[in-house]
Amino acid sequence: MSRAGAAASLDAIPFLDLSGTTQAVRDEVLARWNGLLDVNAFVGGEAVQRFEDAWAAYCDRRYAIGMANGTDALHLSMRALGIGPGDEVVVPANTFVATAEAVVLAGAQPAFADVDPDTLLLTPETLAAAVTPRTRAVAVVHLYGQMPDMDALCRTADELDLLVIEDMAQAQGAAWRGRRAGSFGAAGCTSFYPGKNLGAFGDAGAVVTDDPELAQTLRALRDHGRAGGTAHHDHAYVGTNSRLDALQAVVLEAKLSRLDDWNTRRRDVAAVYHELLDRTVVRPVSELEGSRGVYHLAVVRVHDRDRVRSELAELGIGTGIHYATPCHLMSPYRHLTDRPLPTVEADAAQLLSLPMSPFLSVEDAERVAKTVNEVAARDLR
Ligand SMILES: *Cc1c(COP(=O)(O)O)cnc(C)c1O
Repeated sequence: MSRAGAAASLDAIPFLDLSGTTQAVRDEVLARWNGLLDVNAFVGGEAVQRFEDAWAAYCDRRYAIGMANGTDALHLSMRALGIGPGDEVVVPANTFVATAEAVVLAGAQPAFADVDPDTLLLTPETLAAAVTPRTRAVAVVHLYGQMPDMDALCRTADELDLLVIEDMAQAQGAAWRGRRAGSFGAAGCTSFYPGKNLGAFGDAGAVVTDDPELAQTLRALRDHGRAGGTAHHDHAYVGTNSRLDALQAVVLEAKLSRLDDWNTRRRDVAAVYHELLDRTVVRPVSELEGSRGVYHLAVVRVHDRDRVRSELAELGIGTGIHYATPCHLMSPYRHLTDRPLPTVEADAAQLLSLPMSPFLSVEDAERVAKTVNEVAARDLR
């Protein structure tokens, strides 16, 4: 349907539409996949190496290690950094559960932290409040694609003698004061799940680091603990199978060359939301001055969220919730936290993720913002 026709009949606006990014790389990917079928190189190999080099360079780091998914990128990084039984890792309670899960998979315990009420990100204060004598590291989550004050957080982590592990699954291409996400911590961990800003055609993930020893340990852990590369039979660790496959590496390399452009378009959509949303009835999550966020999600807070959400659905506007239950209130983790986390707990019932994609038009973004204003204002009259 033409643009004019779409506007006249008010097409549905889905919360997430992957077709634009898929179609943009389709021909390039199919051509390179054909080449791989000629040589039968499916796991590892040149395609994976090429993407790893490109991803490391993009993140301003020396090494990238492809993984099967983001959860493995996180938990294998923790293991490779020597985090295990008896240790605690600070995790913001309002993250996707995988961040907490990774800590447990590494054999350690999450220590859940509260976040800043404007950005919903960790601060030096909320970090320090979660630290105990057993805390070894902090998993800094660049939630929704925004960066916290990394200068302040890294300084505090340093003072408290904590390793910094970045969970940058939602922030591929984001920057804090010109420095890329993934380039601050001992390890920068990401997921390339299809819905992420840089998404594969299936599951994939990666770790970036400047530390050659850490890179080598991660390469071993992802490949059954093999110590000297794939030709060797020396299994020096209990590893796992978390290899990146070549078909996904091809998709990721094709998409990476377009990521900055796509992130700019996401910022344009977010700018429309920020300009038009009525602050008396909708509270958008804010972005810090030094952050160049990549708006993996465009999240607002509204009263009576579930009513707003279902009325928007009736009007053809899809939304999501990230996340309905804070990690520290989920049954496997509930026993770990005995103090209230007021911001995380108060906001969970109000969070609403608006449609976001690099291919969402300005007109559609305007329609979303205006409709959200109207629907959110209804119960306040
Ligand atoms: C997607 C995501 C992960 C986990 O990635 P998987 O590839 O699904 O294992 C971890 N942390 C955050 C913040 C995420 O958004």
